Amino acid sequence: MANTLYDALFAPLAARDDAFLILPDGTEITGRAFHALIARQADALVAEGVAPGDRVAVQVAKSPEALALYAATVMAGAIFLPLNTGYTPDEVGYFLGNATPRVFLCDPAKRDALAPVAAAHGARTLTMGADGAGSFADLVAARPDSFTPVDRAPEDLAAFLYTSGTTGRSKGAMLSHANLLSNAEVLVAFWHFTSEDVLLHALPIFHTHGLFVASNTVLLAGGSMIFLPGFSTDAVLAHLPRATSMMGVPTFYTRLLDDPRFTRDIAQHMRLFTSGSAPLLAETHLAFEARTGHRILERYGMTETNMNTSNPYDGDRRAGTVGFPLPGVEVKITDPATGAALPQGEPGMIEVRGPNVFQGYWQMPEKTREELREDGFFITGDIGTQDDRGYISIVGRQKDLIITGGYNVYPKEVELVLDEQPGVLESAVIGVPHPDFGEAVFAVLVPTGDGPDEAAIRTALEARLAKFKQPKGYAVLPELPRNTMGKVQKALLRKEFAGSFG
Ligand code: AMP
Repeated sequence: MANTLYDALFAPLAARDDAFLILPDGTEITGRAFHALIARQADALVAEGVAPGDRVAVQVAKSPEALALYAATVMAGAIFLPLNTGYTPDEVGYFLGNATPRVFLCDPAKRDALAPVAAAHGARTLTMGADGAGSFADLVAARPDSFTPVDRAPEDLAAFLYTSGTTGRSKGAMLSHANLLSNAEVLVAFWHFTSEDVLLHALPIFHTHGLFVASNTVLLAGGSMIFLPGFSTDAVLAHLPRATSMMGVPTFYTRLLDDPRFTRDIAQHMRLFTSGSAPLLAETHLAFEARTGHRILERYGMTETNMNTSNPYDGDRRAGTVGFPLPGVEVKITDPATGAALPQGEPGMIEVRGPNVFQGYWQMPEKTREELREDGFFITGDIGTQDDRGYISIVGRQKDLIITGGYNVYPKEVELVLDEQPGVLESAVIGVPHPDFGEAVFAVLVPTGDGPDEAAIRTALEARLAKFKQPKGYAVLPELPRNTMGKVQKALLRKEFAGSFG
């Protein structure tokens, strides 16, 4: 009898008397204690009527109990469905309606607002606060420390992760036990994770990065995590001395670099810093190396696929690239219109195939057919290029492509030039409606120092970019709108500047 993911990731905790989780106040939770919590929670879920294949939806703060809930759901043979803690009751209603979970766990403070929403979709509401307390903990306290894992085969589903849905509604990416385990196996080997590793974990756990990339990799390697409720420079600096590795989004690294206490000395002992979920500016990569001597390892993945590519562990980690396809993952770059493979060097759609690629979107067969080819290649929606050494760079999302007067403009190409200009900290280039050109290139700049000089920038760009790529309008904002994973929300910018040309 077997449960693929539980056997590989969670069962080994039962034999560990070392610290699996280290909390901000220094409290340690041994593997054995964490495993007992998982078993009690699994037993409580089953007592609540959760059957194999049922969904368990959660919108709770990051805590050891919340992480255990992922494991307990897998152990009980059910499907874990974590939701961004920022979603409003209306948004939660959409997910519960789409996924029809058996139970829904939320913050006790939101129970009154959310329980009727859950009930309308047939789900029973339980609560879990940031400290782990709530009606679920009360049920769990009465359950035994052991539970026989429910059988699950590699192809059975372990989780639904909803896409961030910056265009249209979020889709539930169905991830199987084998999808998650295969990626964890590859990452442990590729990034050299061992039982000696102590990962500084400051990412949210409702997203693939913190939940799967970070936690699954550490679990499979038998390592430990310093489990912070979120990112704060002070907390990261305080805990860095005990860590060996850290996974972050680019904003973690820019914030650390902004703090003079983040020195070469404090980072010296670290084995690995990785970055992903949003583009790491080459400038940040270089500044980080200059400050610490470490080259951040940038990798590329997504909700539907886990990790697809990575810069090498031992070889040259190239700034501005996301490295090579991971072992077992095939990547091809195709013409977005025809699907035909493009010559090396040309920008095109990134397609990926491998054991990591998801099983389709829950109850959206048409969306699944549009994005997942019959031969197994997933059309990622990201536009990328591959250089003559095989390194892949992301140029942007296809939906961010600007078509102006019939010409294609990839925002990244313009942003890279803008970012070099004096007075510009960073930039976002978008397409906005234009009466003559259909769309016009529009640049949003974030100032540094004395701020940008628009006339000087216009002149500088004339020498660097074809006329159709040069922005027809500029705006300056104190900062770019970003979501929790550090992604620039271009849809918001497009809306804000939609009226710029009439
Ligand atoms: P999510 O599904 O929320 O993980 O978002 C996945 C998307 O984030 C990808 O399709 C990319 O557009 C973007 N992304 C992830 N990693 C990187 C990276 N290293 N560089 C640029 N974009 C990235």
